[in-house]
Amino acid sequence: MNEYASLLLDWFYANRRTLPFRQDPTPYHIWLSEIMLQQTRMTAVLPYYERFLAACPDIPALANCDDEKLHKLWEGLGYYSRVRNLKKAAQVVCEQYGGELPADYDALRKLPGIGPYTAGAVASISFGIPVPAVDGNVLRVLSRLDDDRRCVTEPAVKKELTQRVMELQPADAPGDFNQALMELGALVCVPNGAPLCDGCPWRTLCKARAAGTALQLPVKARPKARRLVPVAIALVEGPEGWLLHRRPDTGLLAGLWEPPLWEDHSFADAAAMQKALADLGIDTAASFTGEPLCEALPEAKHIFTHLEWRMSGWKFTAPAQALPDGYVWASAEQLEQAYALPGAFRVYRQQMLTGTSKKSCN
Ligand code: SF4
Repeated sequence: MNEYASLLLDWFYANRRTLPFRQDPTPYHIWLSEIMLQQTRMTAVLPYYERFLAACPDIPALANCDDEKLHKLWEGLGYYSRVRNLKKAAQVVCEQYGGELPADYDALRKLPGIGPYTAGAVASISFGIPVPAVDGNVLRVLSRLDDDRRCVTEPAVKKELTQRVMELQPADAPGDFNQALMELGALVCVPNGAPLCDGCPWRTLCKARAAGTALQLPVKARPKARRLVPVAIALVEGPEGWLLHRRPDTGLLAGLWEPPLWEDHSFADAAAMQKALADLGIDTAASFTGEPLCEALPEAKHIFTHLEWRMSGWKFTAPAQALPDGYVWASAEQLEQAYALPGAFRVYRQQMLTGTSKKSCN
């Protein structure tokens, strides 16, 4: 075994975190954990992981799980296409592979939502196949190890760094080596702030440490500026709960629930929003509380990959009424148990759970 691998694996075996999917690293567990960990911190993922597995203990259970239930299980994790692709891939695995993930990197790559990194993680960790699993953490560690000042988001550079992983990876421990690299990136060669070089198994070999360039690495292309989008939010409370609307089955936050809203739009005042609600067939001119109530909502923002929502609006009361298609009343209990509201609406969800507006419209 080469010196790099030997030092890294010794460190990993002594310092690795105890994680539920490491204790039982079945292909399904590794796959699920890696999908959840995309763009999401470990501490946020762990409770979701346990809850998801309790509801969908195996791939056939995932393939047959109701979409609404899956959205609810994923509520707050964001990037909901991940869970839709998990289900699609589970259905393919049931149809083509008898409900078990194939021990084949190329076959894994063909499944919905499984890219090179996830396929590499499952293949190496669960099946012991010698393939790389290179994500942003690994690129950061390797660019520092070799003091490589090229842009790691360039495909040619990424390809070379991936080859470098394979030069270092020992044939008899591909999964442990890949996990050790990820763990080093998560615990020691960290992304924000100075790396903790004194505790690094590669401190005597690392060229960026010797050159004093670790903090400047990795070099990445500047991200595109996000578009700022005003979003007008209406929280409408009727006698049976809060008004929710199901988003379309495609596009941003597909199939999830939301309060009535207008993207790329703002209203001059509460009356203008009430008129827009009336145009949708929703009456907020009267109230189930006896007097129409309205109140300005706190402003909030939510960052998507290419967009930033800047949200504001009003809270209203409404009388009992027949609702247009796609709208429902949700009680506080249904908000907790049944309807998946994206994390973008965290502030407004809290407003709904807090209860009725006390301010008169007049
Ligand atoms: Fe990263 Fe420092 Fe280790 Fe180099 S010595 S790999 S910069 S933690």
